[in-house]
Amino acid sequence: MFHAFLIKYSEIGIKGKNRYLFEDALVRQVRRALNKIDGNFTVSKETGRVFAMAESDFDYDEAVEALQHVFGVSAICPVSVFEDRGFEQLAEDVCGYVEELYGGREITFKVATRRARKEYPMTSMEINAGLGGMILDRFSTLKVDVHKPDVFINVEIRNNIYVYSEEIKGPGGLPVGTGGRATLLLSGGIDSPVAGYMISKRGIQIDAVYFHAPPYTSERAKQKVVDLAREISAYTGPIKLHVVNFTDIQLAIYDKCPHDELTIIMRRYMMRIAEQLAKEDGSMALITGESIGQVASQTLQSLNCTNAVCEMPVFRPLIAFDKQDIVDISQKIGTYDTSILPFEDCCTIFVAKHPVTKPELKRIEKSETHLTGVIEELYEKALETQEVISIE
Ligand code: ATP
Ligand code: MG
Repeated sequence: MFHAFLIKYSEIGIKGKNRYLFEDALVRQVRRALNKIDGNFTVSKETGRVFAMAESDFDYDEAVEALQHVFGVSAICPVSVFEDRGFEQLAEDVCGYVEELYGGREITFKVATRRARKEYPMTSMEINAGLGGMILDRFSTLKVDVHKPDVFINVEIRNNIYVYSEEIKGPGGLPVGTGGRATLLLSGGIDSPVAGYMISKRGIQIDAVYFHAPPYTSERAKQKVVDLAREISAYTGPIKLHVVNFTDIQLAIYDKCPHDELTIIMRRYMMRIAEQLAKEDGSMALITGESIGQVASQTLQSLNCTNAVCEMPVFRPLIAFDKQDIVDISQKIGTYDTSILPFEDCCTIFVAKHPVTKPELKRIEKSETHLTGVIEELYEKALETQEVISIE
């Protein structure tokens, strides 16, 4: 019965003079999401709301799901739209709406009117009372409860009149494209896709870098990362994925540096390369899936050593999360099943039996000097031979 959605947003409402930028970004993202499904929609904004009107047939569940992937949406309300042809006609229209949704059901209701068009000849209170009385007369099973109704009959008076009851929760956050760009170090694990999702939820556009180590890591391991990027792109929008061949750098580190420091030194090279690619992409921060204490390379000492090579801020949204909390989010956003596929990871192949858990920056820097004369060329080559995959 619904041909339109009224889309509510919360946080963008408080952005003062920049508010229109947020609303326009939200309209763009809603359009992008609905473009991916069958059916044509007109998407527009109107004082505090975004409306998506179907111009053709569409699959309701598919449309709701698409909208649930748009950051910035706090609620999705399937809405019936009526032309304003006077109050009597409105009462008929609302009764038709109630009949279809709640006819014959023993429930309580409350009419809640909002007048965005103040010239409407009745006040909100008068409309509530008029429509409520009419519904009570027509439907013997419905009762009013103004405090805790089972359903609200929301009526918004604008150029047209919008009637809705259901509010389906949206993902919240801010629309992608309002916060600049950041570069995600995306591995095939559980954490980094979640980290990318979380930062993107604050309105940030995401690029990604994956460090690939053939033949130690397979094509399937790479495909898994491409799949993960595609899965989060349902939320983040298009992702530019850099695939960097890291094998020679890893072998050089393996060859020249103390084995208990391999992971830290390798992570430092990942961060250096990622930062360089980020700069070239106009990205302003890096994102990782690190979380305190999860593995040897994620102690405070290790994080300090890794961080020391970066000038840009490094966002670690999972830093204080327990693993189970991260798993819960990955299941919610749909990356978990891909993340747990058992393909080798370049970090695990070269990992030492007993990695340092309290690396000292001075020592790490000294160990890295053993790479001088070899690493520069490998670093350049890694950048030159990168493959760029456009996701979406
Ligand atoms: P994840 O579940 O994200 O793989 P993890 O718990 O396995 O994380 P590490 O392997 O220590 O942790 O990696 C820490 C972070 O470094 C990852 O979250 C990711 O951001 C980045 N990272 C690790 N390996 C790679 C890789 N091969 N390519 C790109 N980024 C990587
Ligand atoms: Mg990993």
